Amino acid sequence: MTTKEYKEYYESKTFKEKYVYEGNDLGAACTKQGICFKLWSPFAEDVAVNLYKDGESRKFTSYPMVREEKGVWSCMAAGVGHGTYYDFTLEMNGETVKSYDPWARACNCNGGRSMAVDLSKTNPEGWETDRNWFEVKNRKETNNTAYGVSGEQIIYEIHVKDFSYDKASGVPEAYRGKYKAFTLEGMSLRGEGRLPTCLDYLKELGITHVQLLPVYDYGSVDESGASSQFNWGYDPKNYNVPEGSYSTDPYNGEVRIRELKELIQSLHKHGIGVIMDVVYNHTYSLDSCFTRTAPYYYYRQNEDGSYSNGSDCGNDVACEREMCRKYILDSVLYWAEEYHMDGFRFDLMGLLDVGLLNDIRKALDEIYGKGRILVYGEPWSAADSPMAAGYVPCKKDAINLLDENVGVFCDNTRDAVKGHVFYEEVPGFVNGGTGLETDILRSVTGCVSGTIDKEQDLNSAISSEFPVKAPSQIINYISAHDNMTLWDKLMVTMKPGQSFDTKDEEVIRAYKMAAAVYFTCQGRLFFLGGEESARTKYGDANSYKSPPEVNQIDWRRAYEYEEILEYYKGLIAFRKQMSGLTDKSAAAYQRVYDQAIPAPGVVTFCVRNNDTDKWKELFICYNSTEEGIEIWLPKGGWELLLDETSSVLWKQGETVEGSQVIAPISVKIFGKR
Ligand code: CA
Repeated sequence: MTTKEYKEYYESKTFKEKYVYEGNDLGAACTKQGICFKLWSPFAEDVAVNLYKDGESRKFTSYPMVREEKGVWSCMAAGVGHGTYYDFTLEMNGETVKSYDPWARACNCNGGRSMAVDLSKTNPEGWETDRNWFEVKNRKETNNTAYGVSGEQIIYEIHVKDFSYDKASGVPEAYRGKYKAFTLEGMSLRGEGRLPTCLDYLKELGITHVQLLPVYDYGSVDESGASSQFNWGYDPKNYNVPEGSYSTDPYNGEVRIRELKELIQSLHKHGIGVIMDVVYNHTYSLDSCFTRTAPYYYYRQNEDGSYSNGSDCGNDVACEREMCRKYILDSVLYWAEEYHMDGFRFDLMGLLDVGLLNDIRKALDEIYGKGRILVYGEPWSAADSPMAAGYVPCKKDAINLLDENVGVFCDNTRDAVKGHVFYEEVPGFVNGGTGLETDILRSVTGCVSGTIDKEQDLNSAISSEFPVKAPSQIINYISAHDNMTLWDKLMVTMKPGQSFDTKDEEVIRAYKMAAAVYFTCQGRLFFLGGEESARTKYGDANSYKSPPEVNQIDWRRAYEYEEILEYYKGLIAFRKQMSGLTDKSAAAYQRVYDQAIPAPGVVTFCVRNNDTDKWKELFICYNSTEEGIEIWLPKGGWELLLDETSSVLWKQGETVEGSQVIAPISVKIFGKR
């Protein structure tokens, strides 16, 4: 068949009737009798499963597989079990191909050979009592931050290697850059307990969720190679197996599973949820287990049959095709169930369709409760991709078609606050940009409502390009692994040509303002790990394969910039108490009122909290100008809660009224009891 004929056949009714398999038993299942293998390969003429004692040695036996209905091949290998390695030999179109198992749950070093696994043997001690974040958050012992725990979610994005690669982390060498580093308590800078790093640091910071850059098995790092290799990992090889380079032993297929579970268990124990970055939109290579077992099926094709490339990584996964769709859904459910994941962040979600994300949302809701497992992603793709007719890409203009608990990264807020990500010199509101007042006010309501005209129905201002239903759909952020760090962006726009190491007071001021602005916007909150300590990558805006020295968290910097770190800690604690800012409902925008632009570069608004809150109302002023500005507080007694010097003034509750000066490039917040 030509590639075009493949496409036509895969999309035909005949193919769907003949080959769409609905069973949940694909892969290798360890049973008392032996291992039951099942592989979906509709066009194979003959399939054998090869067995190996380990990940490297020659096969010790092969079994022929039997063709069943719907393109499934099966075989029961008696007398073998957990820890047996395997792959398949397929005869197809006059060729012999070998493949690892698309449904593998364990694999050898570098993932070219699968391993049959009895998952109960991979559980760390105490795993049976491990609970998801949303179940443990109300437990007393998780009340671990200085200011307590609330239902608000504050997401901290971190790469496993970045977290502990720096020697200054205090992590022993064997665990540096590994899953294991997340299990260590008592780590500190230079061994001084008062300057915690790693897990203890996260606890003090007060974030609620860690979002890990890809931890499924990816292809760009040689797991047998040096630890100085680095890649973000957006190049999936085995979707349902953890990456081996973060484990202490990539050769034993069991170890990476146990160690990732230990990481999750450790964070859960300290009241922190774990979100997984999933890249179902493309694979590392077209020479994958998908191609070898079902040529072209799993990849989106252009009209002429060629591969589409909306990911800019050489291929797009064809999520519209039934078996591929089922694969993605089953994979998400597998990670949620087996690894107790608390959320999923979908890479280039614009290459996936609205129906699939809503199906995933629904399936998770049915098992875990409505909205409790977080689901969000990037509402864009790298380039156009020819999605089959009738399927709608998960892009910004389709957000109203997504479930209210499917979220998207909000580039509107990001760019309004600090400037465009691709045009490095373009500033945003806090670093010299002008004419951004209404964009900033729109951000305050999570882009649900954009108007400041009180006569107008607020709902009528909803944008057709970005018709957000509720702040539950919005992930507010001003830095992520992609693009420049916040520090680098501010340095480039405010102090061009200066060394990124310069500890510049003006930049620190704008930095704190940027943080205070997006921390007072409705939506969910997300930031790149290290943003709270002025993380720099020395201007590297795409560090996906830069050395770990560029990518790592520099733990000394956390304390060199303790002023910023403390400001973030206070902001996190402040936000958690403010129901008006953390309300995720569709009506939340109504809590924001009296929006005003008293002068160019200055924005003020009020927020209504719940009556049971300590402060019933907030008055917030953003002054992005280089001059101090005088504003009049609304009537009544107000307390100063936060200014440019401190984000914990709310602990003191100094009463003020009347005329107030808002310092240049700063945020001031007042609260009324
Ligand atoms: Ca790998």
